Amino acid sequence: MINLGERLAARRAAGRQRFRRLVESPAGPLQKIDGREILAFCSNDYLGLANHPEVAASLREATHRYGSGSGSAHLINGHTHAHHALEEALAEFTGRPRALLFSTGYMANLGTVGALLGRGDCLIEDRLNHASLIDAGTLSGAKRLRYAHADVEAATRQLARASGETLLVTDGVFSMDGDIAPLPALARAARAHDAWLMVDDAHGIGVLGPGGRGSLAHFGLGLNDAPVLMGTLGKAIGTAGAFVAGDEDLIEYLIGAARTYLFTTAMPAAIAEATRTALSLASREDWRREHLQALIARLRNGAEALGLALMPSQTPIQPLLIGDSAQALAAADALWEHGVLVPAIRPPTVAEGQARLRITLSAAHESAHVDRLLEALAATQAVLAAQTPA
Ligand SMILES: *Cc1c(COP(=O)(O)O)cnc(C)c1O
Repeated sequence: MINLGERLAARRAAGRQRFRRLVESPAGPLQKIDGREILAFCSNDYLGLANHPEVAASLREATHRYGSGSGSAHLINGHTHAHHALEEALAEFTGRPRALLFSTGYMANLGTVGALLGRGDCLIEDRLNHASLIDAGTLSGAKRLRYAHADVEAATRQLARASGETLLVTDGVFSMDGDIAPLPALARAARAHDAWLMVDDAHGIGVLGPGGRGSLAHFGLGLNDAPVLMGTLGKAIGTAGAFVAGDEDLIEYLIGAARTYLFTTAMPAAIAEATRTALSLASREDWRREHLQALIARLRNGAEALGLALMPSQTPIQPLLIGDSAQALAAADALWEHGVLVPAIRPPTVAEGQARLRITLSAAHESAHVDRLLEALAATQAVLAAQTPA
């Protein structure tokens, strides 16, 4: 019999039970959480669009026109002009012939990998790939081969071992480390082995590359280097949902074969309209990316002055490795007491012994917010010093 009491007790004993904080304000640097005013450094709203007046106005207007729900799947009668216009905007944004909307990034990954691969095929993955890509591999039935994080030689060895149709998939920016995948070398290796490269750019879209076109654009790579690009809309773009962009055949094929596309309700049309507005802001307002880069530099310089070694990252994800889970939690608690919210990320989200504070920055932050974070870090350094190797 399933004994949940026992399982929960074991999880609590291991300090792994999770809890939710109750948020009373929109996304943004200053929030009211659990009844307390707090300065938050943990969202993926990298461009500060999740609570933008123009985006919210689009959502309201489109709700008047389309109502709240789409009512059915895209292939029945849920695919409105709003969805279609967003797909066209995403194709243009990514510089690819076509794009296909999914309701979430998780579903886009499950559906795409599952449509491209089956038994007898091979999926090659970076060890630090997002959980949805790991699950996508399991669900596809393909043979799964992992390689050490960002290790192109190890990836190449797996490519040489692979049989059947082969897909190499990697995060563009790693969600818990903030580093950028070595995409040019991975693309060359995949091509040399007649494999396709798929990039999950959940944390690169909107943030990296000219006009925020993502990590592939950051390296000047295109369709021939990575035939499959997955991007999410709930992070830097500030709404919800995801897309896959590629050539005509890829999208036509996915429309008929991606089960998480076929058997799910289309996102509300109003979300699609709001997303189109957000995408336009994201691509034309370079000042958001410039401000973000200035904040990243300010944080890194300030942390260095305090003797705190942030993990090497050029992206808004700036983790501080602690190691021990209990100590990471203690550091997060100390920051919370100083009015700053930075989450402690612990196993199983990261490897054993790799617990960390995951600091994320947003263009909505001001320089003064980063200074307050640095002051809070300095004040909690007594706690941190105990865990950070000198
Ligand atoms: C957040 C995330 C996803 C899932 O996207 P959702 O739209 O939130 O479901 C997929 N891959 C990566 C790398 C992510 O960080």
